[in-house]
Amino acid sequence: MGSITLKQVTKSFGKVNVIKPIDLEIKDGEFIVFVGPSGCGKSTLLRMIAGLEDTTSGTIEIDGKDATDTPPSKRGLAMVFQSYALYPHMSVRNNIAFPLKQAKMSPEEIETKIANAAKILNLDTYLDRKPGQLSGGQRQRVAIGRAIVRQPSAFLFDEPLSNLDASLRVNMRLEISELHKSLATTMVYVTHDQVEAMTMADRIAVFNAGIIEQVGTPLELYNKPVNQFVAGFIGSPK
Ligand code: ADP
Ligand code: MG
Repeated sequence: MGSITLKQVTKSFGKVNVIKPIDLEIKDGEFIVFVGPSGCGKSTLLRMIAGLEDTTSGTIEIDGKDATDTPPSKRGLAMVFQSYALYPHMSVRNNIAFPLKQAKMSPEEIETKIANAAKILNLDTYLDRKPGQLSGGQRQRVAIGRAIVRQPSAFLFDEPLSNLDASLRVNMRLEISELHKSLATTMVYVTHDQVEAMTMADRIAVFNAGIIEQVGTPLELYNKPVNQFVAGFIGSPK
């Protein structure tokens, strides 16, 4: 559970081709980071995996099954956004419960799931507050909590930490890495921050203008960048 395979996937907005044919195999349980400069297509590809953008051509398989035309809610994935995307008028508890209520889960089961997520993410003390009464880091924890309770086969993160200040960002990196270790669930993580990529990833895919230049472990990319772009972006001494 949690493998994602992209085969010759492309995306155009009107006449503008923003994703060139991409092939990529994301393995079950891995933490893969999409890194690259702003505008190179990272979010677009992530949104295509989530089903929030359709694919212009190519196929997306999830757990070996063609999911190219599967609606987002049926893909078994959970997306966490930079903007948190919380409902401002709902308490933390209700924000987390919302997708579960939509899925017609029983109140008892919802309570258990919220309690588990609260424990994992240290949300206990602010379950009854509204998002407006929380710090950026707390809001991001709630957004992650809302993803966890759905037990997705993969988490998709789009620059989840870029609204946080530097020291908090370092803490949240560690928390997300710990979460990955404890859940052992596939995570696809988009960032333009090389340090984030190097410290968090099992593998990194380096994007440049709609293509992936190289995929490899942080060490592989650092030691054996395939070209100047990767070397420059990763910061290897070549
Ligand atoms: P990144 O996340 O790497 O910064 P994006 O995936 O957001 O890049 O964007 C890739 C390119 O696609 C950019 O040139 C952007 O302007 C364009 N783009 C993204 N979404 C749309 C859209 N809905 N309509 C038209 N162009 C878009
Ligand atoms: Mg983006």
